[in-house]
Amino acid sequence: MERITTESGNPLLSGQVPPTFGAIRAEHVRPAVGQVLTAERALIVELAAQGAPSLEWLRSTEKMLERINAVWSPVQHLNSVASSPELRDAHNECLTDVTAFFSELGQNAAIYEKFAQLSGSLLSQPEAELIRQSLRDFRLAGVALPPEAREAYRKCQLELAAKQAEFEQHVMDSNDAFEYHETDRAALSGLPEPDLERARAAAAAKHLEGWLFRLDPPTYQTMLMHADRSELRERYYRAWVTRASEQSPAQWNNHPVIEEILKLRQRSAALLGFRNFAALSLARKMAESEEQVLEFLEDLARRSRRFAQQEFAQLEQFAGRKLEGWDVSYYSEKLRQATLKISDEELRDYFPLPRVLAGLFGLVEQLFGVRITPVTDGTLWHETAQAFRIKRLDGTPVGGLLADFYARPNKRGGAWMDSCVNRSRLGERAQNPVAHLVCNFAPPTGDKPSYITHTDVVTLFHEFGHSLHHLLTEVDYPSLAGINGVAWDAVELPSQFFENYAWRPEVLREITAHRSTGAPIPEDKIETLRSSRTFLSGLAMIRQLEFALFDFRLHARPEPASRDDVQQLLNQVRAEVGVVRVPDFNRFQCSFTHIFAGGYAAGYYSYKWAEVLAADAFSAFEESGAFDAGTADRFRRNILAVGGSRDAMASFVAFRGRPPVLEPLLRQAGIVE
Ligand code: ZN
Repeated sequence: MERITTESGNPLLSGQVPPTFGAIRAEHVRPAVGQVLTAERALIVELAAQGAPSLEWLRSTEKMLERINAVWSPVQHLNSVASSPELRDAHNECLTDVTAFFSELGQNAAIYEKFAQLSGSLLSQPEAELIRQSLRDFRLAGVALPPEAREAYRKCQLELAAKQAEFEQHVMDSNDAFEYHETDRAALSGLPEPDLERARAAAAAKHLEGWLFRLDPPTYQTMLMHADRSELRERYYRAWVTRASEQSPAQWNNHPVIEEILKLRQRSAALLGFRNFAALSLARKMAESEEQVLEFLEDLARRSRRFAQQEFAQLEQFAGRKLEGWDVSYYSEKLRQATLKISDEELRDYFPLPRVLAGLFGLVEQLFGVRITPVTDGTLWHETAQAFRIKRLDGTPVGGLLADFYARPNKRGGAWMDSCVNRSRLGERAQNPVAHLVCNFAPPTGDKPSYITHTDVVTLFHEFGHSLHHLLTEVDYPSLAGINGVAWDAVELPSQFFENYAWRPEVLREITAHRSTGAPIPEDKIETLRSSRTFLSGLAMIRQLEFALFDFRLHARPEPASRDDVQQLLNQVRAEVGVVRVPDFNRFQCSFTHIFAGGYAAGYYSYKWAEVLAADAFSAFEESGAFDAGTADRFRRNILAVGGSRDAMASFVAFRGRPPVLEPLLRQAGIVE
């Protein structure tokens, strides 16, 4: 086997995994990606020419994917968390090459044939699953099509990848272009002091008087939730829901990009013989049919809508007037304070991030028997990024975690977990998994640590659940290790499951230390916080169902939708399911990156689908005790450790002893008669 030769000076080619992130520059990207793709193309020719395939042959294909991942994963990561115009260009250019490589590989009939030959051999269960998924993915890459259709399909995929990247870029650019400068303190009435402090610092850094605000998610949320002046809330709401629309500068308008994306997806589906993109999407999912997904969503909507309508009526009654889209968070928070006597900001004072992390790590140790400790050497991409190492209690190394917690410019919004290094045991070298954990929390101010809201805590636990899935895997083949190879609609199971712990009194006591007294959160506040979990939960449920139904119906159309069709469908879903009035200028679809830039196309329903699995899985812990070691170990072995090496339903049944049921989720959300 040919190995990549090390080009000195290029950290992406050092052979070190993970690489020294701090040393990677935009100019390293093109040569590294070019070199690795050339070497692996040569290897593919060799692999295709070999005789009857063996397990060694199968391992060679896995090693090849890992070598590409070692170069490409850091580039993708840096483009998300530390973007620059140069890096972005290099990334986008190489994205085309990488996509081309994989579409060529996916259409390589000789390699496909070798996998097909292997499927008859005596294999272990993970190996059989690897072959099954590989054959499916080859077919979905068009390998079985006649040459002309195959070529058309390949081109279609390339264009699609480029269009999706463009969609996301437009959203990022619209975000970054927004600035709100204010010199009148009265206009900012209601905003929490830490946000004002940061805005003052941002203004000072630009030699401006007053306060300077951006459009990052925490700022947007704080404005909508706390700004007393309705005009300010409206200004932020408008900016947020019109990003990358016809109301933005023309070069960022995503309407035509959406049309292109839908056209390309429909064409891809048709070429592969599916009646629409939704059917194609389901080929890789746990859900069995379009009807099953739509019934599931519509059933949940029917059960929740009445609760949401009651909640909204209660909210309008409380406000004493009709509410607009930009009023809902604000009055929800006010109602929450009035009825639950709990304020988001008051609670923020209880959650210094270092304390939350210490409590979280303690919990993980208790449940799964692994210890997480900080690593101080090595340079990452930003001075505030942190590395951790994970070991079993007997000292056996398990993996690593690279965490990037704070919001800043040139960093993609939201929170996510991503694979940095996959676990593999393929002979020569045992490789342990490393996870990226990325959040956008308010950064520390001066020498004070970051204080996060309880919502942030839940987000952190969510992403940590994904990280545990990635890190506690025991699968030896990287393509099936951790979250890899797990059906999209089941992949949120561990993350949503783990959120439950952010609501447990035992955990809340461990992760809190008040800003001035250092005391843990008092019992009465724990009780109130817990009852807040179902506060306005019908509205939250309906909001997610709106997104999910819009996404699924959009992709289940037999014909691609025009800009007007998209708007009409969205309006229709809102009229049917929605509860909150949406203003005419709202162009939410133009920044719906989950489905137009991410992997959630005809798959947004997965969040709710997996919530059912997660709530039902956690109900096993409610029966046995939330910290029961035996149940935790069964969860680890049956769900986390097996990753994608087994069918998601089989894993669930192995853990729960039966297929999933809806009741625990409805109970958890308080949506029960
Ligand atoms: Zn998630």
